[in-house]
Amino acid sequence: MHFGKKLASVDETATGVRVTFADGTMAEGDVLIGADGGHSVVRQLLLPHFGFVSADLCGAMGRTPLTERFRRLVYGRGTMVKGPHLNLMLGRMEFANAPGPLGLPPTSSYVRWVLLMPPDHPAAQPTAVMPDVRKVVLELIDGWHEDLTDLIKQSDAFNSAIGSPVLLDQPVTAWDAERITMLGDAAHLTIASGGNGANTALRDAEQLTQRLTNDDDVVASLRAYQTEMLEYGNEAVEFAKENQKNFVPESAPAKAL
Ligand SMILES: Cc1cc2nc3c(=O)[nH]c(=O)nc-3n(C[C@H](O)[C@H](O)[C@H](O)COP(=O)(O)OP(=O)(O)OC[C@H]3O[C@@H](n4cnc5c(N)ncnc54)[C@H](O)[C@@H]3O)c2cc1C
Repeated sequence: MHFGKKLASVDETATGVRVTFADGTMAEGDVLIGADGGHSVVRQLLLPHFGFVSADLCGAMGRTPLTERFRRLVYGRGTMVKGPHLNLMLGRMEFANAPGPLGLPPTSSYVRWVLLMPPDHPAAQPTAVMPDVRKVVLELIDGWHEDLTDLIKQSDAFNSAIGSPVLLDQPVTAWDAERITMLGDAAHLTIASGGNGANTALRDAEQLTQRLTNDDDVVASLRAYQTEMLEYGNEAVEFAKENQKNFVPESAPAKAL
């Protein structure tokens, strides 16, 4: 396992694949599994005509270390605070074991907050990247309970722009390469509020592992995986789009002239 390598290009040969990384180094293997997320380089190589559309879901996101005071804000694992044309979603990520192994960075337990607003909200218009999005969030929730405003003030990680995530502009279709496949968001980009992106990525990994370990013919294994995965993967994207409707706050009524 090599960390810190950035995939740049892939060549499929009769018997395997050869990849080139951004640092100029190369590697060869029997197959390539693109698990490189929503902006997958592998997908761009397999399906270059695919583009993105806005998910019409605008908001700002951040993370605050978990304290006893903030733990009380989140019943179970997640809760949603509804305000006028704004929803503040809180998720409690409490680690039973510190995420140290596998080279993951040490992270203490935290509350993840996402302030969602309708895409036509004045604050949701495309803006320049801000150094600290918390200022805008605090302005929007001015007057809310101080447990919530303090939660935002004390965040140690936050994004730097309010904007909408993207979706693929069409359902993913079969590709020609025989020894290259994809899993997770690379193959079926879902939106965060769908709540099923990581679950579907894990399902892919499990299916693919089964196929590759039970069949010596890797090309046939990848083909069977692709057929199955595209069906439930595209269904997962549609499910996520439907689920999003439960979270997007209502637009403000149009003002009478
Ligand atoms: C706020 C939020 C809440 C969410 N909540 C849920 C939830 O409750 N349930 C759920 O199931 N899903 C949830 N999701 C979605 C879930 O996070 C994603 O679907 C999931 O992370 C996809 O996994 P992945 O491995 O396919 O891609 P990623 O997690 O995006 O991993 C891709 C990896 O590839 C690397 N990479 C990218 N390009 C290259 C390259 N050129 N070379 C080498 N490496 C590269 C990236 O650095 C990254 O490490 C949520 C997402 C967000 C943002």
